[in-house]
Amino acid sequence: MTSTIGFVGLGTMGLPMAINLVKAGHQVRGFDVVTEQVEKARENGIEIVPSAAEAASGATVLITMLPKGDHVRQVLLADDGPLSTLEPSGVVIDCSTIDVATSRAVHEAGAALNIDVLDAPVSGGVGGATEGTLTFMVGGSAEVLDSAQYVFDIMGAKTVHCGGPGAGQVAKTCNQLVFGTNLVAVSEAFVLAKRLGLSDQKLFDVLSTSSGNSWVLNNFCPRPGLVGFAAANNDYAPRFAAALLAKDLGLAETAADSASMELHVAKSARELVDQLALVNGGLDCSAVIKVIDPDEQI
Ligand code: NAD
Repeated sequence: MTSTIGFVGLGTMGLPMAINLVKAGHQVRGFDVVTEQVEKARENGIEIVPSAAEAASGATVLITMLPKGDHVRQVLLADDGPLSTLEPSGVVIDCSTIDVATSRAVHEAGAALNIDVLDAPVSGGVGGATEGTLTFMVGGSAEVLDSAQYVFDIMGAKTVHCGGPGAGQVAKTCNQLVFGTNLVAVSEAFVLAKRLGLSDQKLFDVLSTSSGNSWVLNNFCPRPGLVGFAAANNDYAPRFAAALLAKDLGLAETAADSASMELHVAKSARELVDQLALVNGGLDCSAVIKVIDPDEQI
């Protein structure tokens, strides 16, 4: 089955996801506000259109992959936006990582127009987006997820139906809390080891084969020379930008407030990631080690 799929937000993650839809034979109508991303998308067979509303026009599925809740509101809750141009019985799949309240507002706006909405944030990073092996955490109706499963199967390897509207965002927030605190813990370990005379390589050899091993260590190792593709080996060019992790740890705190709960470890992690994001939010989040290590400069 060939579908027309609108795609808004052709950035680090959105572009490779959209390319996989093209490779699978679908017609993809894309929109982004950054010329460089638009050009890359065009080179990869995505039909570029001048607005989000036009990306949705004639499409049965609209995917958004935007940085923050504000961008999602701006795009999806605009009066003359894509919800007004999507085909009847179309589905909006918002893959951005955003706050639960905005996500639920999008579900409500869709319901008022008879448009189905799924919140479907992802995990797996740029590698997963490129290889089509992302994990999707989905909130919304199980029947709607069923009808859109073919789209998830192209972009990902695993789809977990988490529950009703916003449930995907709740799951993603919890995942980011674990990711961010683990990243800070791994960074602290490297700085402590160095100050006590243990080399990066020795620590990596031990951690990677011991109970301190983690996905973060193997994918976002904060010291250069240890994991070939890690951002640390590429001057911390962003695989996952510090500004986005700062946002996600902020979302975790907001979510915890709403649940009358205090996040002790995540709060400390957020303060450190915020310091990095304030100086250079475009750096990879693993550059947080430079905030922790007094010998380093951001
Ligand atoms: P990004 O900043 O690289 O891409 C976002 C894109 O949205 C940009 O190209 C930007 O120009 C575009 N955009 C912004 N406002 C727009 C608008 N009004 N209309 C059209 N386009 C607009 O971010 P990313 O790394 O691709 O992340 C996207 C989302 O996915 C974020 O919520 C992030 O937290 C989440 N995420 C990222 C990763 C990762 O490893 N990068 C992993 C999992 C989840």
